[in-house]
Amino acid sequence: MTEPHDVAIIGGSFAGLTAALQLGRASRRVAVFDTGHPRNAASPTAHGVPGWDGRKPAQILAAIRADLATYPTVWIRDSAVTTLAGVADAFRLTVEGTEVTARRVILACGIADRLPAIQGLAEGWGTWALHCPYCHGYEVKGRPLSILGRGPMALHMARMLRTDWSHDVTLIAHEGELGPDAETEAAELGVTLHRAPLIRADGDGEGARLTLANGIVIETAGLFLHADTSFGAPFVAGLGLATLDGPTGPYLKTGAFNVTSRAGIFAAGDIIRPAGILTPALADGAIAGTAAHQSLLWPDRFPPCQET
Ligand SMILES: Cc1cc2nc3c(=O)[nH]c(=O)nc-3n(C[C@H](O)[C@H](O)[C@H](O)COP(=O)(O)OP(=O)(O)OC[C@H]3O[C@@H](n4cnc5c(N)ncnc54)[C@H](O)[C@@H]3O)c2cc1C
Repeated sequence: MTEPHDVAIIGGSFAGLTAALQLGRASRRVAVFDTGHPRNAASPTAHGVPGWDGRKPAQILAAIRADLATYPTVWIRDSAVTTLAGVADAFRLTVEGTEVTARRVILACGIADRLPAIQGLAEGWGTWALHCPYCHGYEVKGRPLSILGRGPMALHMARMLRTDWSHDVTLIAHEGELGPDAETEAAELGVTLHRAPLIRADGDGEGARLTLANGIVIETAGLFLHADTSFGAPFVAGLGLATLDGPTGPYLKTGAFNVTSRAGIFAAGDIIRPAGILTPALADGAIAGTAAHQSLLWPDRFPPCQET
């Protein structure tokens, strides 16, 4: 494809492919680069996605890719971008040792989850080790649920699960401070609180058996937890873009129309919000795609966001 591309999109998942769709419909030359690891890849199904509720994540992405095949100016390459340099109208990306040029860039390369080191936990991620009740709570509702407490957000999760998902909720104070009134709040909610770290999880088709350091064993249908997060593409942290501190890790600061703190670089999806739900990523992609397009026509109308 002729270079420079009008827009290079780094990350071809929910946000990136949606951005590409808008740009393809404007017949703009778009290059999408993707390494094929969407954040929810470990989940057998994705929920809460209108029209696609309960489909496999890969099935949803394949459907979006099939839609994009209609647009001859959209070029998708299953490769990693390893560096990004340059300025608006002259960005340079390194892709498998080759330089690719683009006038605008959309960062849609997501975030990576880092699970606490607990035997058996990684094997259950996305099946019984769950990050979000909206995404996966309905499938385990009414059954014994537990929370891996790693900080004050655990009580937030406890209130949600106990109120609307299950009468049988156990909070494991694994690490970090739950808050000064944790005992009182758990008692008021009717949530069982265990103050001992989780040392082992043995999953089966119905959930998992959780073993605490004090010997207590808990049978659970779903263990909810917040993983630590970092940028999905390592080069993003070195770009010097403004970031914000989220509850689990940093994310990119953006202003109106999803512009980052650098002119010509837009961002979309989990990389810009600590949501962990894919419908905002779709919306972000549409915003970034249309804004990147219009910034080619009216560059001055899309200034970078404030650094602070
Ligand atoms: C276990 C789990 C289950 C989930 N289930 C649901 C659910 O049921 N419903 C729901 O609404 N949400 C769910 N989510 C949240 C959902 O996965 C995210 O909100 C969504 O994936 C964000 O989309 P995105 O396009 O921003 O990023 P991602 O989907 O994470 O995509 C980022 C893409 O960028 C690529 N990439 C990374 N680095 C590079 C690079 N250097 N070069 C090129 N490409 C790169 C990756 O391979 C990936 O394809 C779940 C999350 C988790 C952790």
